[in-house]
Amino acid sequence: MGELNNKNMEDCLFCKIIDKQLDSEIVHEDDTCVAFKDINPKARIHLLIVPRKHIAKISDMEEGDEKIIGHLIKVAKDLAEKHECKGYQLLFNVGKEAGQIIFHVHLHLMGH
Ligand code: AMP
Ligand code: ZN
Repeated sequence: MGELNNKNMEDCLFCKIIDKQLDSEIVHEDDTCVAFKDINPKARIHLLIVPRKHIAKISDMEEGDEKIIGHLIKVAKDLAEKHECKGYQLLFNVGKEAGQIIFHVHLHLMGH
């Protein structure tokens, strides 16, 4: 299990963005998360808020991860205000059947 998780992290696009091995347009970072612009925006403002901890999907959350996920929501709210969004959507796609294509938890902020 541990080995499998490490292997996934090595292959993980968002872990590479967090580690700055891959370029992205970062708009916020703190000890818990990084937020960057979605490469294929579906709204005026489309940001992804990503925990530094590699959690593949919301359904893999462990005890204590609710603090991390709550923090993502707070950061999304602050970023929506900073970008003067009048309204916005917050979305987690959970599982490939629901359209998840990157298996590192990310909160979509789509602002209008
Ligand atoms: P999901 O379908 O919830 O897994 O969403 C993955 C999102 O990641 C999509 O909206 C993609 O446009 C976005 N994405 C994929 N690669 C990158 C990248 N290198 N930098 C920024 N966003 C990306
Ligand atoms: Zn990852």
